Amino acid sequence: MPAAVATVSRSRWKRPSRARVERIRAKLAEFYGVPLLAPHGRPLDELVLTVLSQSTNDRNRDIAYLRLRDALPTWAAVRDAPLIQVEEAIRPGGISKVKSKRIQAILRQLTDSAPAAAADPLDLSWMAAAPIEESRAALCALPGVARKTAACVLLFSYGIQDVPVDTHVGRVATRLGLLRPGAGAEEQHDEVCAITPPGAALEFHVNLLRHGRRICHSQRPDCGQCVLRRSCPARQL
Ligand code: SF4
Repeated sequence: MPAAVATVSRSRWKRPSRARVERIRAKLAEFYGVPLLAPHGRPLDELVLTVLSQSTNDRNRDIAYLRLRDALPTWAAVRDAPLIQVEEAIRPGGISKVKSKRIQAILRQLTDSAPAAAADPLDLSWMAAAPIEESRAALCALPGVARKTAACVLLFSYGIQDVPVDTHVGRVATRLGLLRPGAGAEEQHDEVCAITPPGAALEFHVNLLRHGRRICHSQRPDCGQCVLRRSCPARQL
């Protein structure tokens, strides 16, 4: 049986205390460890990788990505290539017709919207020092890019405090009472960012994700094995 959580209206919702968030964070860190992943400084690589990750597993995503880089080594080359060449390269990642169009649309929009004086319209390194709202807005204005993808780009490229909320993170955080049941994607992202302790965005994202994949499954959460069961309002025991 899934651990169903009834929807709560905004007016009745109370954000969890810092102490509670810290306890959950500490328990997860004790169980899963603290992930070490240095920001790689390549936002456009991360953006394309995130597009390729849709509806597939990590292995096929990586194969598609490496084949694309091999066939077309620069992002300008990917942008200007015949669509079929991009599609062929990323085929192992699935829904390649959709993804190839989206990748080229993103690269073209970045090129078209860059200031005329920009030396390289595909250079997104300005995001490293820009206000997070500005970078997020620029990313979310791109075709098919929403908050989760923008957060992946900012967090994994530059270690910026933005937390990607995918299906696992959203489900686990809701069951634990960190997110309002019934919250949409925008609210989930805003709230997770608001409650995440400073400097803990990567750790919180990765450990909530791990917990969702390994223990707090969508249909049959393994509450008997869960380190958070004592404090979880959705536990099934
Ligand atoms: S007790 Fe753990 S596994 Fe069960 S619903 Fe809560 S967080 Fe998920």
